[in-house]
Amino acid sequence: SKEQGRFQVQFFSAEARERQTVRYSMEKRLFKALERNEFRLYYQPMIDMVTGRTTGAEALIRWIGEDGTPIHPDQFIPLAEENGMIVPIGQWVVKTALNELSVWRGYGLDHLRISINLSARQLQEPDFLLNFLQMLSHSGENPEQVMIEMTETVVMRKAQESIDLLGALKAHRIKIAIDDFGTGYSSLSYLRRFPVDVLKIDRSFVRQIGEMGEDSEIVRLITLLARALSLEVCAEGVESELELSYLREFGVGSYQGYLSSPAIPSGSFVDWVLKSRA
Ligand code: C2E
Ligand code: CA
Ligand code: CA
Ligand code: CA
Repeated sequence: SKEQGRFQVQFFSAEARERQTVRYSMEKRLFKALERNEFRLYYQPMIDMVTGRTTGAEALIRWIGEDGTPIHPDQFIPLAEENGMIVPIGQWVVKTALNELSVWRGYGLDHLRISINLSARQLQEPDFLLNFLQMLSHSGENPEQVMIEMTETVVMRKAQESIDLLGALKAHRIKIAIDDFGTGYSSLSYLRRFPVDVLKIDRSFVRQIGEMGEDSEIVRLITLLARALSLEVCAEGVESELELSYLREFGVGSYQGYLSSPAIPSGSFVDWVLKSRA
């Protein structure tokens, strides 16, 4: 058993070393990815539940690596947060997303809203607000067509700073959404103090709607809460007509999900919107 123990130690350290190597080589490629122009934004339509019309899109980042297949953010955003790369990547995201508004306008789509994800590390940057507002004013875009998404955990961790930050964004007429609503560490009272516009109901609740009574009740309660506070509600990850009909019955205002479309490249998104309007 002593032998076995020693063997295990060696086994795990070899495995750990292997993990380090993989991480290191990914990190090296990640540092070069921006200058190599390897990131893309994909766009997932956000759809009005009542009219069925597209109200905008959420920008979701992809990393197109050597073999051409898009790598999803869960594979590299955590690493980028750890080593700080998320800051320049995030700036690229904001610039690209703002530019997308002018691309859409070129196709006569001048009413759509772009929604941008921000992670904790980005919001902690002392220059975040200044940078963001500068990029916005350089773009010349209408701030009311710009929404930012952050999770409630991020907001709650530094409550007073968040109130100030969100207040400043709000003063510039930028829309604010709480992402993955219902999954984090949240206190309902914060919703009154934070200048929030939209609650995005997490996919984990949507997925089990109708199957498990409790999740349906949570969705229903979030909708009631939102109505009481005059907030919009957007459901994430809608995959079936059944889910959609429940959400509509509960009074959820808009949705995203594979039922209508996954996140797709800019050109495909424009085609999709133009076709779905016809
Ligand atoms: P999120 O903001 O909660 O985004 C929703 C995720 O659900 C996206 O995954 C989207 O592609 C996926 N999704 C949408 N509809 C459906 C559906 O019907 N079924 C299922 N199964 N999934 C659906 P994605 O694109 O892989 O992004 C993962 C996470 O990475 C995002 O979660 C967000 O937190 C983060 N992220 C994405 N883009 C950015 C970015 O530009 N900056 C930062 N900081 N984070 C980002
Ligand atoms: Ca999001
Ligand atoms: Ca989400
Ligand atoms: Ca999420």
